[in-house]
Amino acid sequence: MEPVNLMSLNLTELKEFLDSFDHVFSDCDGVIWSKVPLPGVGDFFDRIKQLGKTVHFVSNNSLRSQKNYEDLFEAANIKNGFENLTVPSIAIAEYLKSVDFNKAVYCVTCPETINILKSYGFTCKYGPETGAKLYSDYVQYLEDDEEIGAVVFDSDFNVNLPKMYRAINFLRRPEVLYFSGATDRYVPLKPGCLCLGTGVFTDIVSEEANREPISLGKPGKLFGEFAMKRAGVTDPSRVLFIGDMIEQDVGLGRATGFKTLLVLTNNTRENMMAHPHLKPDYYADSLGSLVPVINNV
Ligand SMILES: [Mg+2]
Repeated sequence: MEPVNLMSLNLTELKEFLDSFDHVFSDCDGVIWSKVPLPGVGDFFDRIKQLGKTVHFVSNNSLRSQKNYEDLFEAANIKNGFENLTVPSIAIAEYLKSVDFNKAVYCVTCPETINILKSYGFTCKYGPETGAKLYSDYVQYLEDDEEIGAVVFDSDFNVNLPKMYRAINFLRRPEVLYFSGATDRYVPLKPGCLCLGTGVFTDIVSEEANREPISLGKPGKLFGEFAMKRAGVTDPSRVLFIGDMIEQDVGLGRATGFKTLLVLTNNTRENMMAHPHLKPDYYADSLGSLVPVINNV
């Protein structure tokens, strides 16, 4: 089916659209805020709640602290945003807890993900932040560490060759769990400009170790199911997923069975139509642009 422009619907069609879901799961970066909140987002979610829908947030961004998320939700006039937020670091910690994990985690992650894992009581190991000067000295990074029982990749801006050596080496033991959070190969840095994300390094390690990570970030189905569990939702077909990225957001929606709405804050309609196999069910310029439309219902 071709993506439907929500701005083009008549009142009857709009009511049908609004009746087709009970829950909204929304991405944050590029949907609710870029650096600052985007216009009208608070009004959008207020109206959605007035219409009887529940609202949850699902982001691949483990980099922000709780305080930073709380400040951004507050600036966007969204209440209880952080309480209703799912990010990869929390999903990974909850997964480890659910399997009674009791070894150490090797983290190739942002500091916030390490903080979250530690807050769940897990032992974290990481580094080195810089490598040796000569290849001949890199052999030190091939030593195994029997304490390591899991390797986690999640948005480490300081990823380097020693960390990749160590990760690949630990993953040679099949019992070592392997997780990825954000796998974004591309991230929007400025309008119309997609640049490489840290996910490229995870891809290299997966290939070298010949292992598939347990993907607890968008677009992994397990992550979508985890978000449903946290939100107390059982029927994915009654969820509308809102995002700005085709691979991550529309991809997650497709994998999990959500309806999808793409906001064109970091994409053009041409880009969206050109994607070979992922198209959203609906699209709109922004959440703010939908406020006058849904206020009419
Ligand atoms: Mg986004």
